[in-house]
Amino acid sequence: MITLEDYSRYVDREIIEELHLLAKGLRGIKILHVNSTKKGGGVAEILSRLVPLTNSLGIETNWEVFSGSDEFFRFTKKLHNMLHMPNQGSIDSEDINIYLKTTYDNMQKINTENYDVVFIHDPQPLGLVVKKMKNQKWIWRCHIDTSTPDEKAWSFLELFVNSYDACIFHIPEFVYKNIRIPPYIIPPSIDPLHPKNSEIDEEFIAETVARYGVDASRPIILQVSRFDRLKDPIGVYKAYRLVKKKYDCQLVLLGSYATDDPEGEEVYKEVLSLISEDKDAFALNLPPDSHREVNAFQRMATVVLQKSIREGFGLVVSEAMWKGKPVIGGNTGGIRRQIVEGYTGFLVNTIEGTAYRTRQLLSDESLRRKMGEYAREWVRHRFLIIRHLRDYLMLIKSLL
Ligand code: UDP
Repeated sequence: MITLEDYSRYVDREIIEELHLLAKGLRGIKILHVNSTKKGGGVAEILSRLVPLTNSLGIETNWEVFSGSDEFFRFTKKLHNMLHMPNQGSIDSEDINIYLKTTYDNMQKINTENYDVVFIHDPQPLGLVVKKMKNQKWIWRCHIDTSTPDEKAWSFLELFVNSYDACIFHIPEFVYKNIRIPPYIIPPSIDPLHPKNSEIDEEFIAETVARYGVDASRPIILQVSRFDRLKDPIGVYKAYRLVKKKYDCQLVLLGSYATDDPEGEEVYKEVLSLISEDKDAFALNLPPDSHREVNAFQRMATVVLQKSIREGFGLVVSEAMWKGKPVIGGNTGGIRRQIVEGYTGFLVNTIEGTAYRTRQLLSDESLRRKMGEYAREWVRHRFLIIRHLRDYLMLIKSLL
């Protein structure tokens, strides 16, 4: 079992002591987290580490998964896209019926009564709040960029959001302008002890890359992402084609499906057909718990991209930065907080811009190394799990 002491290599002793003190004052309370998938995507990734770590501090914390049919997740994916930006669709009475029925079914399955604090992640389980009891604190944890949502989507959320005691956004820009409950800002985090981020031996790295047919002796451009249009895998491929006119390089699009994202398969097939004639482009669809493989590819990559069109946070950016890689990221959402333009990587708006910055990094090893060092330090100070846990406990303390 992981304990706080295991992190003393990465953070100051005082921070660990402060956390112990904070936790002592909260012993006896019970916390529940609810999201909609056990595997795949950033939320599950964070909870899989945050929940055991909170327990190790003596605060009983559980994690429940809200389940639904394909139809339900089709609607919530549309809602997700509409919250990220306008003109992504509309909500009809059939959607609302499915949402309410699924919420009702989950109310029977998920026990929320025994908890003092309930964290609800994203819009899928939002409606569970109708079960909220007087002595409880319910917090909505939003992982989406809701700075310019489709108003219809936000109005739908408002059926439930206003019953919460507080909500949390990743960055101040995401706070919806007419929010009526107290908003807090807490960016996500990565866990340096997770098999995805911990040190791994060179042999395993070389063996993994070779296993998938990638040539370790030539430059590798990498994007790790669920197969999702907002992550722009097609744009990444086009940028790589521009780079390839001048550089002999390979592209690896490493992805997986999440059970709460029904579009994954469709997008994966589109990518496969696009790259079918290109022997240097790889679309690898790995099981969602292939953490060591993701780790190996991130360490082996020459240049890491995250060319998202919209992004809540993009944990993959910090994951790569932690491994000393400069990242070229879409100029959007939480990516802007992680990439300090020109120091820890580059922010890009277009396919041409992505290709330009990729060429620049491919051609300059010392720039890659210097930026990679800054990148790791930036993550160490801002985006590690210890800071995240501390922020959550502080918020709980202030609400209780
Ligand atoms: N991930 C993974 N395998 C994949 C694709 C993604 O393990 O094939 C992980 C990735 O390393 C990261 C998380 O899933 O930890 C994705 O989180 P992020 O915030 O980047 O994006 P989200 O999927 O939540 O939109």
